[in-house]
Amino acid sequence: MLLVLILFVVVVVIFATGAHRSPAECQHCKKQIPGTKQVWFGTENRFCLCKECAGKIPRDFMDYAKQNWTYITYTDYLQWDQETADERAQFEPDIKYGYFCEISIDTKRKLFKLGKQNDISMIFRFKDLIGYDINFKPEEYKEGFLGDKVKGTEYGVFKFARPDVELEVTINPDVKLSAVSRGFIAKRFEYNLSEEFKVLINNFAVCALLSSEEFNKETETESRNIGELEKAMALFMFDNVEEITQESLKNQRNALIKAFHPDNNEANVAFSQKINAAYELLSGVVSR
Ligand SMILES: [Zn+2]
Repeated sequence: MLLVLILFVVVVVIFATGAHRSPAECQHCKKQIPGTKQVWFGTENRFCLCKECAGKIPRDFMDYAKQNWTYITYTDYLQWDQETADERAQFEPDIKYGYFCEISIDTKRKLFKLGKQNDISMIFRFKDLIGYDINFKPEEYKEGFLGDKVKGTEYGVFKFARPDVELEVTINPDVKLSAVSRGFIAKRFEYNLSEEFKVLINNFAVCALLSSEEFNKETETESRNIGELEKAMALFMFDNVEEITQESLKNQRNALIKAFHPDNNEANVAFSQKINAAYELLSGVVSR
């Protein structure tokens, strides 16, 4: 009995450490690596790296990289890391938010950083971002004597063109917001995001929008892939046209103008013009 157990443990250890694999060559440095030191990537075009070469990939990219990367993606990451190092070293945040994962934004240089408890401590350029979602996910609704509350998580999802990764972070868990319930049979509720969270979302949207314009100017071949309407909707944070009403439009415009008042900052002058142009465009859509 004991012998069977020992044998079982030995087999488990062999498979867990990769000792059963035959030696392979590191695709990058061409070193021969024993089974225990191989790190494999990709599903179709699989490739193998030694521990040192794999160690150049940030830890938080690892799960995504192991599933999705090819060797070309890996070398492109190394190149991006080198090319953008000086630019990213200039990072000086003016906006910070989040306890569990802190998102800090350098609105001037159009950079942002994900850091703190999620282990990601990396600075990204807004121009490399191809999609994101920063939002509140309601999880629990509680009726209360003094007012109803909704508990949930503030999260962020970020997808980049370079480096090719998609990251999901919890910004703050267990966030409690005041809620207003509507409807008796099918209960729906609305809640108010904190002012600080709204500032983060607004600033993030502005940097992403301005960077995509800048990016489009640089690569004129694909310049028309984001239509004016989509841009205006992204700025006002509408997911689809049906959501837009004159009232919601006006509220959102006032909130944006307040957050980016021309008196507060010179850069805001141009931006408040953009807000107004987007407002005109969207209110034209609503009245139709
Ligand atoms: Zn290597």
